[in-house]
Amino acid sequence: MLPTPDYVFWFATGSQDLYGDECLKTVAAHSQEMVAGLNASGALPFPVVWKPTLIDSVSIEGTLQAASDDPKCAGVILWMHTFSPAKMWIHGLQRCRKPLMHLHTQFNREIPFADIDMDFMNTNQSAHGDREFGHMMTRMGVPRKVAVGHWTDPRVQAKIASWMRTAVGVVESAHLRVVRFGDNMRDVAVTEGDKVEAELKFGWSVDAYDVSEMAKAADAVPAADVEALTDRYYADYDIILEGRDPAEFRRHVAEQARIELGLRAFLDGHDYQAIVTNFQTLGGLRQLPGLAIQRLMADGYGFGAEGDWKTAAMVRLLKAMGAGIKDAKGSSFMEDYTYHLVPGAEAILQAHMLEVCPSIASGKPAIKVDFLSMGEREDPARLVFTCKPGAGTACSLVDLGHRFRLIVNAVECLPQDVPMPKLPVASALWKPLPDLPTAAEAWIYAGGAHHTAFTLDLTPEQILDWGDAMGIETVLIDKDTTIRAFRNELRWNEAAFR
Ligand code: MN
Repeated sequence: MLPTPDYVFWFATGSQDLYGDECLKTVAAHSQEMVAGLNASGALPFPVVWKPTLIDSVSIEGTLQAASDDPKCAGVILWMHTFSPAKMWIHGLQRCRKPLMHLHTQFNREIPFADIDMDFMNTNQSAHGDREFGHMMTRMGVPRKVAVGHWTDPRVQAKIASWMRTAVGVVESAHLRVVRFGDNMRDVAVTEGDKVEAELKFGWSVDAYDVSEMAKAADAVPAADVEALTDRYYADYDIILEGRDPAEFRRHVAEQARIELGLRAFLDGHDYQAIVTNFQTLGGLRQLPGLAIQRLMADGYGFGAEGDWKTAAMVRLLKAMGAGIKDAKGSSFMEDYTYHLVPGAEAILQAHMLEVCPSIASGKPAIKVDFLSMGEREDPARLVFTCKPGAGTACSLVDLGHRFRLIVNAVECLPQDVPMPKLPVASALWKPLPDLPTAAEAWIYAGGAHHTAFTLDLTPEQILDWGDAMGIETVLIDKDTTIRAFRNELRWNEAAFR
């Protein structure tokens, strides 16, 4: 897998020196116990690292600056054990470049009604200390996630765990690099966008190369390496010959192995984590990259077709956010392809001309070689499979000219029971929530694309939180969506995000 750092999250507790050393000792002991408890819970995907209590402007600024400078720190969890006057936080929050969670909790779960005294009251003040702090975050417009409840509550821990993956998406976004081979598909609108604004907003470097660079990298791959990878394909996947000559079939498959190895060398040599192709710009390539792209996606690289660099970047971020999930079900580039419009059973068949990620495959993928009118090259090899059933999330980042909008749709992937032997591409069949007519109507009002970044491993909330952290407009289409409310939200957002 394309590696990500061994991220950790810092836990910083706010207080002040008004209460004396005894109180501060208690505060430190409590927060250390909480960090140990969170780490021992097994609920969090990343370790939490305790930091000394923050009691003044200097210690706050120093800690948040250090967090910003530490490439392994993916975010900071902040909690005010006692009152912590929030003017002290201004300089630190101005310096902070890492995702923030405001954990609104309290060390003690119960109020000891029979014994409570002013010592207890003054040691357990987050009910008002966290409000003082929250006010400053709001006044400064600092993006953050707020989680409320006792720190031992599994629901609170699940919220922290969920946000941690969003935070990884935020820090990975800051240095994401996308390579485009060729330009946007001629005449297509929604795959275009402002790449300079994307670098300002999201941190993405989006660079174009002539496709001859890809062909050159593929041609430079030693024949023995191509043979070895082709052997691995034959070991790992079923082969569907469909009457084709086995030697000719293998030659077509080997061409994808050559492209895969060439692309890997190019991406790693130039430090790119996402790739964009365009079938109108294939130069000296003998096939449109199909199987090669599918394998790279499964390895954690982002992908977008027809010049779609925004979706390529989003696919990479979904891969990074989902990295390390136990029993992960996968993420992929996807396209709304064709409809099943039977009343009550409406669904969308998702596919692409070749490039669907086999991480979402239900069962063992198979290799097919088939005619492809697009690209006017020889028949490309591709993996075919259907998608695992279950809840998923599809998203589309569009450029409206003066701002970006992230559209997120909760979907339900349906079992694909009826074989589709004549379909030469991988596919998913999903019902968008709340139902196809409502979801598609809302999607179209929102200006969503036909391409999506799709995941079976992340929730709409995690992706919306990423958009909030980027400071862009986000809209959700899910089980609660009604057209009337959704259209009003779009109207109001026109004012809010102008
Ligand atoms: Mn497409």
